[in-house]
Amino acid sequence: MRKRILEQPIDIVSMKEAAYIVKAALYNSRQMKVITLNPEMIVSACQNFEFQSAINNADLIVPDGTGVIWAFKLLNPGVLESANRVPGIELCENVLETANELGKKIAIFGSTQNVLEKLSFSFKEKYPDINIVKMIDGYHGQEEDNNIASEIASENPDFVLVALGSPRQEIWINKYYRLFPHSIMIGVGGSLDIWSGKTKRAPQWMRNIHLEWLFRVITQPQRSTRILKTLPKFIYMVFKARFAKDKPLNSNLEQSTKV
Ligand code: UDP
Repeated sequence: MRKRILEQPIDIVSMKEAAYIVKAALYNSRQMKVITLNPEMIVSACQNFEFQSAINNADLIVPDGTGVIWAFKLLNPGVLESANRVPGIELCENVLETANELGKKIAIFGSTQNVLEKLSFSFKEKYPDINIVKMIDGYHGQEEDNNIASEIASENPDFVLVALGSPRQEIWINKYYRLFPHSIMIGVGGSLDIWSGKTKRAPQWMRNIHLEWLFRVITQPQRSTRILKTLPKFIYMVFKARFAKDKPLNSNLEQSTKV
């Protein structure tokens, strides 16, 4: 169900529904651009028109962050109370299993050479029937984007994982998706780092109490400044939108007639 949070679109779906939608596209070789949205991305999109267009142009936008679900419930009281987050990394793992069963071709763009090397070993073990047709690290100048996109597209991958960090990865997908008429394309952020063993995901108990973001703040100091800077802004924007909703339309009129 497509809704909006601070003007940005969001599909309030369960993990099961999201996985079904993406797998159906994979099965039928249909193009699908997937975005996994978190509060930082919403704040960034409110200030970045290119990113906003990428989000608006996506086929599926799942609520990756706990904060997104919190904001949705606050702004839409009584609507979809059971809504839950859909972590992008789990959605990808879910789809990778199907890609493995179907022997699909995948391409990976982003992260470091070292991470990609480790990843190719762990993928071969975990998804032996997936055909990795291309792996390109994400440390190139933007002037190489066109060539990289053509190089990846020439392999006709079924599934393209882009890990350049946000919003670059979503903007890249939105710029080049026409070269990939039969591919699932998804921005996976730091998932490659986790799958390769470079970084760790929060333990299950922290995820259960919705504190995965706090684990990132503690374990990835380079990200923490960014998270701690945008989170208060996000909360402020959500409350502002909430109170604007509550304000009766004729409140100004009432005030002026009282005087
Ligand atoms: N990355 C990249 N090129 C860049 C910047 C980042 O390939 O110029 C990769 C980085 O190595 C990591 C991934 O993008 O694997 C996600 O980066 P980050 O954690 O900063 O992004 P976020 O998940 O916070 O959006």
